[in-house]
Amino acid sequence: HAKSLGRGRAEHFTDLLAAEIAERAQLESDLREAVDKDEFALVFQPQVSAGDGHIVGAEALLRWKHRDGLKMPAAFIQRAEETGLIVEIGEWVIEEVAETISRWGRMGIPQRLAVNISPRQLDHASFFRRLREAMLAASAPAKLLELEITETLAMHCSEEVVDAIALLRADGASIAIDDFGTGYSNLARLRELPVDRVKLDRSLIEKVAENAEARAIAQAVIGLVHGLGCEAVAEGIESEAQAAVLRVIGCDILQGYAIAQPMAEGAFLEWVRTEGWERAAG
Ligand code: C2E
Ligand code: MG
Ligand code: MG
Ligand code: MG
Repeated sequence: HAKSLGRGRAEHFTDLLAAEIAERAQLESDLREAVDKDEFALVFQPQVSAGDGHIVGAEALLRWKHRDGLKMPAAFIQRAEETGLIVEIGEWVIEEVAETISRWGRMGIPQRLAVNISPRQLDHASFFRRLREAMLAASAPAKLLELEITETLAMHCSEEVVDAIALLRADGASIAIDDFGTGYSNLARLRELPVDRVKLDRSLIEKVAENAEARAIAQAVIGLVHGLGCEAVAEGIESEAQAAVLRVIGCDILQGYAIAQPMAEGAFLEWVRTEGWERAAG
């Protein structure tokens, strides 16, 4: 009996594995098709000044208009990275971001737009050339572009990449370290990187309103960020209480559902016209 049970389990495991492999293969072929059929879209989440609440920029976030509904990055980014498809998807994102910056500029609402860059994209020597080409083709000024690079990636990128980032920054673009506080940082390395902003991960700010230690940690990290000559951005702010604490402990820029959700372009522009500017005026 025990033996047959064991075999049953093994078969079950094999079935699961086969299903998993089939699912991954399906996702990969769907992703390839999505690239060809232009099934991606960007949504935009405002970033506001902690001081007076006026909009200082936005983060572009990727969505996949899948036949089964809108898919979030968590459902496909990792697979796109594993298969290398992120390089093509990332090129689409960069062209879209350049065109968006330019379109908003023509509408008289120049906004800094931040774009997430994955490790695989930076592996390609052509990345910075293509980025420059996309910005030139759209006549988008570099000063309205921000690259978000995760803490882990920032710690491991090659000297060539650091040099290319420095060049881009000399053109006026800015660099933000994303998800800070989730990886480990070599502080000496952090000092050497050309960085403008550091984004405190949601996990660092989640408990700041109710927990003194969490608040002390966030405050110390903001002090460190300022010491490096950078601005501190808090992401994933879900309550007014969190926003209030972050203002008190010196955070410069706020982003999260409590301020605004990521929005499609039309809704984003409407938000800028009403909330974003009203607050700046008030
Ligand atoms: P991220 O860059 O750290 O982006 C922040 C994520 O937090 C976004 O999730 C955003 O929608 C979400 N968020 C914003 N405010 C709140 C809040 O108040 N509470 C909570 N719980 N979440 C909030 P999203 O859009 O699902 O993106 C997830 C991740 O996928 C991003 O994390 C980024 O690492 C990656 N990603 C998104 N777009 C792109 C892209 O175009 N290219 C690449 N390579 N990665 C991307
Ligand atoms: Mg980001
Ligand atoms: Mg982040
Ligand atoms: Mg992230």
